[in-house]
Amino acid sequence: MREATRLPVAPRPFRDELLSSWVARVACRYGLEARDLTQCLAERGSDKLPPFDDITPNQDQIRQWARACRIDPMRLQRLSLAYRHSKRAQLWLLERIGSPMPVCFSCFDDDCAADRDSYIRADWVLAEYFVCPVHRQMLRDRCPSCDGHLYVSYRMRDGRARPVCRKCDDRLTGAYSGHTLPGIPK
Ligand SMILES: [Zn+2]
Ligand SMILES: [Zn+2]
Repeated sequence: MREATRLPVAPRPFRDELLSSWVARVACRYGLEARDLTQCLAERGSDKLPPFDDITPNQDQIRQWARACRIDPMRLQRLSLAYRHSKRAQLWLLERIGSPMPVCFSCFDDDCAADRDSYIRADWVLAEYFVCPVHRQMLRDRCPSCDGHLYVSYRMRDGRARPVCRKCDDRLTGAYSGHTLPGIPK
C-alpha cells in the first residue's frame, strides 16, 4: 500500500475562504492547478477525480487533503458552504458554483498590501452578492485583460499566491477597476 502523500509546505486556510480557493493556493505552491494536485493525492489507481465540491465536499477528499497538509479535517469541513449556510436552501448557493467566479479585485490588492496570499472569499459565490461590502464595488466576473469569463488561478509571486486569469494568465488587480458605486457612502 502506498504511503499517504504529505506536502512539506501548505498554507492554512483563511476563515472566510472558499474551500476550493485554499486547495488552489496549496497547489500553486507546487506549480500545479488544483485538479492536478487533487489527482496526485488520490489513492493510486483511482479514477479521475472531480474538482473539490465547495458545497458538500467529498469526505474522502477532505481526509486526503487534511492528512497531506497536516490539518484538522474539521477545519476544512467548516469551509464548506453547506456547513457555513446550513439553514439555507442549497439552490440559493448553487447559482454561481461552476460558473465564472465573481471577485473583488480590491480585496485581492488588500491581501497584497497586507503581505498575505490573495484568496477568494466564500461569500462571493452567494447568488445575492453583487457588491463587495468592504470596497463598495461591483464584483467582477470578466477578466479585464482578455474579457473572458473569469476563472481564477494562482501563481506564486514574491513568495505569495497571487490571482491570475486562468485563460490569459494576467494578474487580477484593482488597478483596472473604477467600479465604485456612486451614491453609496463609505
Ligand atoms: Zn473588496
Ligand atoms: Zn484573461
